[in-house]
Amino acid sequence: MDPVEEIKSKIDIVDFISEYIKLKQVGKNYQGLCPFHKDTHPSFYVSPERQFWHCFGCNESGDIFTFLEKIEGIEFKEALRILAKRAGVKLQAKDVKQSDSRLKLIRICQISALFYHQVLLKSPLAKKARDYLKKRGLKPETLRIFQIGFAPDKWDSLLKFLEKRGYSLADVEMAGLIIPGKKSGQYYDRFRNRIIFPIFNLYGEVVGFTGRILPDAEDESKAKYINTPQTLIYNKSQVLYGLAQAKQYIRDADKVILVEGNMDMISSFQAGIRNVVCLSGTALTQEQVSLIKRYTSNVLLALDVDPAGFSATNRSVELMLANDLNIKVIQLPKGKDPDECIRQNPLLWEKAVSKPILFMDYYFNQVFKGKKLNSLEEKKQVGEQVLLVVSKIKNSFERDLWIQKLSLKLKVSEDSLRQRLSQISSAEKNKTSSPFEQEDVEQTQENKERSVSIEEEIARRILGLLIKYPKITESVDFLNLDFLPGHDLKDVARLIKKYWKKKGLSLSYFNKAIKKEKRLLDICNLLVLIVEKEYENLTSEERSRELKILVANLKDLYLRSKIDEKNAQLKEAEEKKDKEKIKDLTEELLFLTKKRNENRKWLRELKIKKPAS
Ligand SMILES: [Zn+2]
Repeated sequence: MDPVEEIKSKIDIVDFISEYIKLKQVGKNYQGLCPFHKDTHPSFYVSPERQFWHCFGCNESGDIFTFLEKIEGIEFKEALRILAKRAGVKLQAKDVKQSDSRLKLIRICQISALFYHQVLLKSPLAKKARDYLKKRGLKPETLRIFQIGFAPDKWDSLLKFLEKRGYSLADVEMAGLIIPGKKSGQYYDRFRNRIIFPIFNLYGEVVGFTGRILPDAEDESKAKYINTPQTLIYNKSQVLYGLAQAKQYIRDADKVILVEGNMDMISSFQAGIRNVVCLSGTALTQEQVSLIKRYTSNVLLALDVDPAGFSATNRSVELMLANDLNIKVIQLPKGKDPDECIRQNPLLWEKAVSKPILFMDYYFNQVFKGKKLNSLEEKKQVGEQVLLVVSKIKNSFERDLWIQKLSLKLKVSEDSLRQRLSQISSAEKNKTSSPFEQEDVEQTQENKERSVSIEEEIARRILGLLIKYPKITESVDFLNLDFLPGHDLKDVARLIKKYWKKKGLSLSYFNKAIKKEKRLLDICNLLVLIVEKEYENLTSEERSRELKILVANLKDLYLRSKIDEKNAQLKEAEEKKDKEKIKDLTEELLFLTKKRNENRKWLRELKIKKPAS
């Protein structure tokens, strides 16, 4: 079996795409918001039966491979590797080119993670680290799930390990694991005397590392955490620590908990609250927000969102509001992070997680805390602070709610607050520094939607009806290839005519012929999806009437374009005073117009005549 076919047979397309976007079942198929264009009403369809997807907005379509390629911006080869791993299909060497540089770096990171992990578990050099992690309450199972490791206090332990196994030092440097020394050709390990947390991509492959210094080695000259620099496979603004392990739990719970540090994430996971990812001390990026949105729209923050420290998370909150995420805040006992809570008593964390408060409620409380609001100055300052956040809220209904609330609190009219809000919003819009707005621009440029002509739309439906419901007509003599736009649809129609037998379409022969050419198979998948979407709930008689109307409409369009064409030729002939040509063309035009009128009359009758029920 061809590996592509084997993988497709083992991965359900609905399950797979559901990891990226929310799908809802409609009849036989599934529907959701398209991730490839700005979709406001769900135009993205997935057909489990045909293992095929299509967007009626941007007209993109394909299978799991094309979906993954497009959404991750990767090439077929890489999609093949990722999906083969997921499906448990072994690829032959010829399927995966060894020289693929991304693949090479991933291999280096994977084997390095194993090395560090083994050192942590077994080496006498890692005794302090083992003791420390044990004291922090990490169980062996957790160390295994997160492949936590230790980099010994040496300059070259990883370097020697990889060199012995034949890895080129240039590649290891590209993976971000070693640093060139002063002399050329000399390198040393980036991570030394540190606990190692491998960073995984969504498919569970190691792409980078975070190294935490051992507590007794902490001093001001050394950073507490260091990370892999940006590499071909690792971009810190595009990963969320823990997502690989937590994603299924996030989807199941339909919410995600955002915490600050690796240990918060791991502790919570170990304590059984697993829908959690960590920000690793940086502000959220648009890419990360989009990652989160694949799994849920509900975010619980266990971050430091204290208004004093608000600037640190400001950008994150701003981005989440602008992306229409529902944000709630988890309130922790004073001065404690999630890890400390869990170590003290896991129930404390569980309780806090179960009672989050709305972000805006939280924010209100914080801003108004300790303020007497006697002076105009104070009112103004507080009002501005709240309005600035309100201006980021995408949902207008929600925005209104907070204006009302603010108006009551400040004893200022809603109107004047609204006025000030629109001033703030327009001032914010003019700031070009906002990265998510810039991205919007890029997106719209990228997403020039390909529109489908009316002829094409009608032709698709006619052919789709014939393939999906071949019993609705006895003969396909009406199928005139000249009426059909484009080679692809003509080819499909030709096959329909060829395999049309007395009792309808001989599907087994037809499908066999279609499967020989991927292009035609994709088109047929699309045609069937269209008619399933439009005509699934009709009776057989209604479908048959619909078919006649479509055919008459297509014929009308064809005749109209012919008439236009002849008219143009006639004009030209008149200019040249070519009498013979004028005579011929006038006759042709009369004939075409008569045909068109007949067809239109028939169409009118069809539309009036209700199908017998
Ligand atoms: Zn689309």
